[in-house]
Amino acid sequence: MNLYDVIVVGAGPAGATAATVAARHGAKVLLLEEHTQIGRPIQCTGLLSIRGWRLARLPKSLIVREITGVRAHAPDGSFIDLGGERVRAYVIDRDRFDQALVERAKQTGVEVRTGVRAVSLEAYKNDHRTLWVESRDGLKEKLRARVVVGADGAHGLVARQAELPPPKKRLLGLQAIVQYTAPRPDFVEVFFGERWTGGFFAWAVPERDGSARVGLATERLHQAKESFEHLRAERCAGGEILCYQSGMIPIGLPERTVADGVVLVGDAAGQAKPTSGGGIYTGMLCGKIAGEVAAKAALQGDSTARALREYEVRWRAKLERELTLGFHAQQILTQLSDAQLTQLLKLLREPELRALVEHYGDIDYPSKIAQELIKRPRLWKHIWPALPLGVTQYLRMLLV
Ligand SMILES: Cc1cc2nc3c(=O)[nH]c(=O)nc-3n(C[C@H](O)[C@H](O)[C@H](O)COP(=O)(O)OP(=O)(O)OC[C@H]3O[C@@H](n4cnc5c(N)ncnc54)[C@H](O)[C@@H]3O)c2cc1C
Repeated sequence: MNLYDVIVVGAGPAGATAATVAARHGAKVLLLEEHTQIGRPIQCTGLLSIRGWRLARLPKSLIVREITGVRAHAPDGSFIDLGGERVRAYVIDRDRFDQALVERAKQTGVEVRTGVRAVSLEAYKNDHRTLWVESRDGLKEKLRARVVVGADGAHGLVARQAELPPPKKRLLGLQAIVQYTAPRPDFVEVFFGERWTGGFFAWAVPERDGSARVGLATERLHQAKESFEHLRAERCAGGEILCYQSGMIPIGLPERTVADGVVLVGDAAGQAKPTSGGGIYTGMLCGKIAGEVAAKAALQGDSTARALREYEVRWRAKLERELTLGFHAQQILTQLSDAQLTQLLKLLREPELRALVEHYGDIDYPSKIAQELIKRPRLWKHIWPALPLGVTQYLRMLLV
C-alpha cells in the first residue's frame, strides 16, 4: 500500500495549485480526479481578475477576451456602463486553464491519476489517513497519506468524512453558452431583477464572436430554470442554447477547515466570493498556502490538526474579513425588492459615486468600495435613503 506525504482529492484550480506547491516543497504528492478529462465538464463562466491571472502564471493563449467594464441592468430595464478605460479581467478557457495547471503539477513531480474517485476516508491513525478510491472499472484501492487535501469542490466528500462543518449555503449556478452578440465585446453584463435572476443576479459574459456565457446564481433551485428562460428570452435576444454548464457554488465560511490529517481548500472550504460566486482566484490563493503547510507538516512528521492550523490562520488572515463581509452583502442583496435595486443602480449616475465605484471596484475585494464610501460621509446622503434594513449590521462590521 502506497504512503504519500500528501494526497490531493480534486484537480480543479485549488487542488492543482495545492499539489504543485506541496511538490515544490519536497513532498511526495498524488493528485486524484474523478473525471477522465481534467477541466471537464465545465461548470464556470471563466471570469478571472488580473490578480487571479497573475497568480496562475499561465500562457496568454488561454485568454478568450479582455474585459474592461460592466453594463449593469436594473430591473426596470435601464442600465449603466461602468469602466471601459482599461483591462480589469479576463475571460478564460476554463477547461484548458485547469489542464495547464495540472500539466504544471505533473512537471513539478506530482503523480496525477484521472478517472479515480475518492470514496471514503478513515479516521486519523498512526500519523496518517487511509483513503479508499475507486476507478471507473469499479476497482477499489486503499491509499495512505499524512495529509489529505480536500479540494473536491462543492460536494466535498473529504469534508463530510472528516466531520468538518459545511459552508453556510449553496447557490445554484445555472449557465449556458447562448448565441448572443454582446453590446460591447469587452463588457460583462450583469442583470438584476426577480424575473430573470431567481433573487440574486444574472450575467452575460462574451466569449467567441456571436456567443456568450449566460447564467444566473440563485438559492431558489426550483425556480432557476424558469428564471433562466426569462433571462435568455427577454434580456439576451432569445439566442439559441449551445450547451448547458451548471454547478453548485458553496458560500459562507465554515468554522473549521482543518482536522487531523486533513485540509480543505477552494469550494470545499466555502472560499468562493459570495457576491459573485467567483472561486478561481481565492481557490488558488488558498491552494498555495494549503500545499505549503501540508508539505511542511507531512515532512516534519506531525500532521495533526494542531500542526495544520497554520493553514487556517494564514488563509483566514488573507480572506476571512472579505468573504464574511461578502456573505452579509449577498444576504442583503437577495432581500432587496426590484424597486430598491433599481434605485440603488440609479445612484451610480451621481458622478462622484460613479467615479468612486469605477476607481475602487475590484471583483476580488468588492468591500473596498464600501470601505471608501465610509470615508466620505458627504456621499451618504445619496445612498442612505436607498438602503434597506440589515445594512447597518454590514456597516458596523466594516467599521470594526
Ligand atoms: C455556473 C458557474 C459559474 C462560475 N463562474 C465563475 C467565474 O466566472 N469566475 C470564478 O472565479 N469562479 C466561477 N465559478 C466558481 C468556480 O467554478 C469555482 O469556485 C472553482 O472551480 C473552485 O475551484 P476548486 O478547485 O475548489 O473546485 P472545482 O473546480 O470544483 O474542482 C473540484 C474537482 O474535484 C473533483 N472531485 C470531486 N469529488 C471528487 C472525488 N470524490 N474524488 C476525486 N475527484 C473529485 C471534481 O471532479 C472537480 O474536478 C462559477 C461556478 C459556477 C457553478
